[in-house]
Amino acid sequence: MYKELTTSNRILMGPGPSDAHPRVLKAMSTPLIGHLDPEFVTIMDEVKTMVQNTFMTKNNMTFVVSAPGSAGMETCLVNLLEPGDEVIICVNGVFGGRMADIAERCGAKVHKVEVAWGTVVSPEDVKKALDICKKPKLVALVHAETSTGALQPIKEISDLVHNAGGLLMVDAVTSYCGIELKVDDWNIDAIYTGTQKNLSAPPGLSPVSFSDNALKALENRKTKVQSWFLDLSLVKNYWGGAKRAYHHTAPVSSVYALRESLRIVLEEGLENRWKRHKEVHEVLKTKLESLGFRYLVEKQYRLPNLNAVFLPEGNDEALLRKKLLNDYNIEVGGGLGDFAGKIWRVGIMGESCTLNHVNMLVSALHDMKEFRN
Ligand SMILES: *Cc1c(COP(=O)(O)O)cnc(C)c1O
Repeated sequence: MYKELTTSNRILMGPGPSDAHPRVLKAMSTPLIGHLDPEFVTIMDEVKTMVQNTFMTKNNMTFVVSAPGSAGMETCLVNLLEPGDEVIICVNGVFGGRMADIAERCGAKVHKVEVAWGTVVSPEDVKKALDICKKPKLVALVHAETSTGALQPIKEISDLVHNAGGLLMVDAVTSYCGIELKVDDWNIDAIYTGTQKNLSAPPGLSPVSFSDNALKALENRKTKVQSWFLDLSLVKNYWGGAKRAYHHTAPVSSVYALRESLRIVLEEGLENRWKRHKEVHEVLKTKLESLGFRYLVEKQYRLPNLNAVFLPEGNDEALLRKKLLNDYNIEVGGGLGDFAGKIWRVGIMGESCTLNHVNMLVSALHDMKEFRN
């Protein structure tokens, strides 16, 4: 026989998931109802409105993909791209690389703007790409690159893209509900995010939103969207419209959890939440630097909620990370790509963004005899 499911009481300070609020976990244990039950339809409508509020958009085509952030990425690309379309993808870490891979699979002609990991793409970089690809259908950016801890400025690039007649697509998985993000103000045409980072809900859902111009591109398609499940023209009747039609069975319990996490965000207020992430980051930064950690990203482009730091010389990062997890129940992330084995990615996202979390991590480091500073 298998034992009853139990897990250790972890403190989640990696690149996601973050600690879930007890209210969110409780919401998940609400009894199931049918996904076409009028009561569930009301819940979906409320979730849609709360997602619009937190994205700061009036876009009617705003809903939640029943799959994790990666599926949100794929939803944006497969709906907007057709074979032969030209697209500019900015790559400064893992997630930009993935967008380029998906765009190629859509049959698009991909122009990559590649800059060093840990840096951001400048308006000049985008201008150069626009000299080569004068009329791209789409330009894609990662707002918060979780693999490196870099925060990509959007506004100026948004103007360049629209002046060239293109659509702007943004990955906001790690910025949403933790860092300033204004979809309508910044003229973002397609955006996706996830639930397990600053929202502190369980992983597995991806809020997305599309502007009217993005919808026009969709209407003007000559070919069918390659993916049935992610085809917006089919999903849209499930998440809106006068008559709900069966498309797939929504993950009812996860939608309950998402609703509760959005309620918590709106109770706190978006601006307060952005401020909290900045303030806790400042404290974490001071303490980590005094222990000998060094930041990968230049100060002005640093993400507050994902701290990518080099360990002080002479430390075995994998051993320390393992001890942190096993002996102190604290999870931090390791590096990816060229930074594997060299950096930690310390997340302070949503419910994991408190001074207690900072103090727990710093105390554990002081306590570990293997840690050298
Ligand atoms: C986590 C993450 C994703 C992928 O989300 P999943 O929920 O893991 O599929 C995409 N982009 C960025 C920037 C992320 O941090």
